[in-house]
Amino acid sequence: MSLKIYNTLSRKLEEFTPLNPPNVGLYTCGPTVYMYAHIGNLRTYIFEDILKRVLLANNYKVDHVMNITDVGHLTSDADTGEDKLEKEATKENKNAWEIAAFYTAAFQKDLEELNIIPPDIWCKATDHINEQIELVKRLESKGFTYRADDGIYFDTSKLSDYGKLAGLDIEGLKAGIRVEMVAGKKNPTDFALWKFSPVGVKRQMEWDSPWGKGFPGWHIECAAMSMKYLGETFDIHCGGIDHIPVHHTNEIAEAEAATGKPFVRYWLHGEFLELKEGRMGKSEGNAILISTLKEKGFDPLSYRYLVLNTHYRKKIEFDLDSLAAAQTSLNNLKSTIANIQLMADLLTYYPNYRALLKDAANNFEANYGAIVRAFDEACNTDLNMPQALANLNIFLNKYQEKLDFENANEILNVLTKMDAILGLKLLPKVHELIPANLISLLNSRQAKRTEKNWVESDNLRGEIESLGFLVKDTPRGQILEIKGENKNV
Ligand SMILES: [Zn+2]
Repeated sequence: MSLKIYNTLSRKLEEFTPLNPPNVGLYTCGPTVYMYAHIGNLRTYIFEDILKRVLLANNYKVDHVMNITDVGHLTSDADTGEDKLEKEATKENKNAWEIAAFYTAAFQKDLEELNIIPPDIWCKATDHINEQIELVKRLESKGFTYRADDGIYFDTSKLSDYGKLAGLDIEGLKAGIRVEMVAGKKNPTDFALWKFSPVGVKRQMEWDSPWGKGFPGWHIECAAMSMKYLGETFDIHCGGIDHIPVHHTNEIAEAEAATGKPFVRYWLHGEFLELKEGRMGKSEGNAILISTLKEKGFDPLSYRYLVLNTHYRKKIEFDLDSLAAAQTSLNNLKSTIANIQLMADLLTYYPNYRALLKDAANNFEANYGAIVRAFDEACNTDLNMPQALANLNIFLNKYQEKLDFENANEILNVLTKMDAILGLKLLPKVHELIPANLISLLNSRQAKRTEKNWVESDNLRGEIESLGFLVKDTPRGQILEIKGENKNV
């Protein structure tokens, strides 16, 4: 089956073919570690995790690199304002390195809570200062740079297709926007490659360079580190849609000007999550964190489930009511699957139970084949997770309608594969919950029912229930389910 993804560069759905199959180079822009990530930020990482899991399900070997921005990201996304880390360090009365270490660990914990597979390589901007200086030197030797008052800048007018990712109207920008603040900056879209430490100021993070003491611009770290680990041309680069007009546009400019080669083959961008009142953020004072959700009694995976219910290229308007609904749906999904697991375990570990059940011809392929393929198709069509989840529900409903315990093990195999993509930890461990005398109680109850001794049969039902299991009398025999309070297994 072929994988199709929407490429921001072509604005089209394209068939994905890697440069060096079965390897896929994947670079995802990481956090600027000066504060906790809020759930809006984390939505992007969930989308990227789904992309990675779908690639893995398609038998690709994914080389995943994520950066940690611990220097150079200024309070405006352009090249003005203070360094976000140094500013926060002053506020928290720590140094910039401590701030970076603290919020990096917090971010990694968030990923773990959301069951996001960590990248193969984490790379910090401050560990790659030489690579960034080398890249700026390369650009300088090709004539793409100039010196302004506060740093070395990239001259965007020298690159004929600058702004292609965002479809930027360069002429319009020239006419419409004043070339701001920085003395010596030539074009509105020009950006800093290396910023000088301000005269008379000792920064906590600064390095020597051929142009003077200072620190790298924000975009150069991603261009330098992605090419170091994945090559000068690689397969996929992702981030939030806010990265399209500036950060990713400038990464492309830096890389392609330096190498003369296409930088990235597929660009994927995730939409925002917002609140009713608009954008979520620290400066807006409305940031919701994973820890906030946990304090309110939510499982972080219910947030993941909520995110998967909207296509990654559509906006989500978040509120706690829809999160509560997501948590309920996720719990229902898990308890349905726990009941399939229970039947599979009963039949595996207690073969005598099979004798209590009536046979039926339930063919796996005839009943489920088309639904399983529809699930894969949805995942492989630009990561259509809402459709994939709908197919998962159809799949489970079919099981319940058929009481199809003969196929329980095969169904669980399929669910394991589906959950390898969804990452919702859907499959519980049930076997340990089954008490030793459960089957003998079912046997006795069957005998009482044959004798039409309904009083004794009901007593036995009560006894089984007290062990945490519900008995359902069905045309196929006594089917067991896990009782409500026993559900979160
Ligand atoms: Zn980046």
